Amino acid sequence: APSLAAYDPELDAAIQAERTRQEAHIELIASENYASPAVMEAQGSALTNKYAEGYPGKRYYGGCEHVDVAEQLAIDRIKQVFDCDYANVQPHSGAQANAAVFLALVSPGDTVMGMNLAQGGHLTHGNPANFSGKQYKIVPYGLNPETGLIDYDEMERIAVETRPKMIIGGFSAYSRVKDWARMRQIADKVGAWFWVDMAHIAGLVAAGEYPSPLPHAHVVTSTTHKTLRGPRGGIILTKNQPEDFNKKFQSAVFPGIQGGPLMHVIAAKAVAFKEALDPGFKTYQKQVVANARAMARVFLERGYKVVSGGTDNHLFLLDLIAKNVTGKDAEAALGQAHITVNKNSVPNDPKSPFVTSGLRLGSPASTTRGFTEADMGQVAGWIADIVDAMSASGDVDAVIARVRGEVEALCARYPVYRAPR
Ligand code: PLP
Repeated sequence: APSLAAYDPELDAAIQAERTRQEAHIELIASENYASPAVMEAQGSALTNKYAEGYPGKRYYGGCEHVDVAEQLAIDRIKQVFDCDYANVQPHSGAQANAAVFLALVSPGDTVMGMNLAQGGHLTHGNPANFSGKQYKIVPYGLNPETGLIDYDEMERIAVETRPKMIIGGFSAYSRVKDWARMRQIADKVGAWFWVDMAHIAGLVAAGEYPSPLPHAHVVTSTTHKTLRGPRGGIILTKNQPEDFNKKFQSAVFPGIQGGPLMHVIAAKAVAFKEALDPGFKTYQKQVVANARAMARVFLERGYKVVSGGTDNHLFLLDLIAKNVTGKDAEAALGQAHITVNKNSVPNDPKSPFVTSGLRLGSPASTTRGFTEADMGQVAGWIADIVDAMSASGDVDAVIARVRGEVEALCARYPVYRAPR
């Protein structure tokens, strides 16, 4: 059979160009990472051909003896990674894992409390455009606008007033440690399920660098491709819950919202979970936090506002309101300098979510390629150089051109996939 390059040069060119982009640009999108060659090898394997509806040992198709091994490895390893006793590794994505939790624990029309998207929550935590916001009555909680920290007292007040059936912890853009025990107390006070979506911080939790929600939450979901550094996908976990509770998630995933599991992705998850058990993973996650802090420190030194004043994890939000620069324009200018970020709303943001007054910056991907705190400090300085020039209506193009040269040189020193690690 011809190679991809020979059979489909058009598509191959797009893939090669994306590989080059990933090598030559600095990736600061907090939800992205570089999966290992072994993870990608498993994902590109013959397991993509296999139908395996059901679960290991209980399938609706013949010939599942080998994919059963792969799925059981993934289950056993992730339970070890998070010190828990139930795992479903079949959700195709984080959003699918979250849909399964809604299906398992609440009914359409029920009241559910989730973190405001504009203040750090995820679409699947109740955004009006998402199934969660369309089918459930969502009561949002959020940040104290002065401190940028979660306002638990206000959260409790809203919960007591609205009596949600479920409370969602977890976030896409919050740089501090969430108080899982406090949130569970609030849930218990109003008789709600407490579900934590730890998608962003799963890798840090796995390495013991961020408090685990598992002892506190009734159920925990995650993606597998952010700080956890696996293939794109989702998982559902519980600890110390009764068998019939766990069964709700088994049937919510299949046949509730999915058909055949993606066995090649599940195999790749098994590889990533093995990597998460390696001692080197802890070293990596420690560096992720150190690198995010190194960046935040430079911004603070240069007079920038960092939401909540700093970071305890892999990301933080830069507030550009005082600079009079929009997140949209800053994202575009940094992109020209080969620094990839995403615009993000900040507390009291006067701009719409499509424009915003902030940037979300994260360290997982650049840490994987080997960047040190000194490198991250330099990158933060380059970002500040560009935004300062925008703010002062200086020669932005000249600054972008200079930074792009520096970015190219730094990326060349840290190849993602080509050099032995
Ligand atoms: N949950 C959180 C907290 C997220 O940040 C994300 C993705 O950004 C998701 C869920 C959704 O994951 P996926 O994109 O795999 O559906």
